[in-house]
Amino acid sequence: MQAPCCVGQRRTRQRDVINHVITAAPGPLTAPEIHVRAQRAIPGLGIATVYRTLKLMLDANQVRTVVLPCGETRYEAYNLAHHHHFHCRICNQVFDLSCCPMTMPHELPMDPGFVVDSHEITYYGRCPACTEALRGGRAAVPRLDRVVVDQRPPVRLA
Ligand SMILES: [Zn+2]
Ligand SMILES: [Zn+2]
Repeated sequence: MQAPCCVGQRRTRQRDVINHVITAAPGPLTAPEIHVRAQRAIPGLGIATVYRTLKLMLDANQVRTVVLPCGETRYEAYNLAHHHHFHCRICNQVFDLSCCPMTMPHELPMDPGFVVDSHEITYYGRCPACTEALRGGRAAVPRLDRVVVDQRPPVRLA
């Protein structure tokens, strides 16, 4: 049995590594993805420890969950600016995109009686790496022309 101070240091390091993995990623990660990446820094790290650490980080508002329309739960840093998610259909990675198609100001009444104060959008398609691979190594160009937006289209103001 290790001394309590050693246990505390190990837990702090686990949390630091997991936080670095999450903040360094191009988009929200699943717990198994976090596990694989964190193991590069901490060989032998268990998946149960990853889940336990994520729970602590959720409680501390250090990370938040992202639940995709398919039901998959992922984790991202808590304090990110407004952004949306792009789910690559080929490699299954999820990326953060900063572009927002919604032009509606907050608190604009929509249907009578409904006041909208936020929205979530998930785009689907091919990421730059998968697009490049499909094109046989030519320059990668993100293609967003076949996106599916999981909510009503943007409302244009007169
Ligand atoms: Zn991809
Ligand atoms: Zn938006």
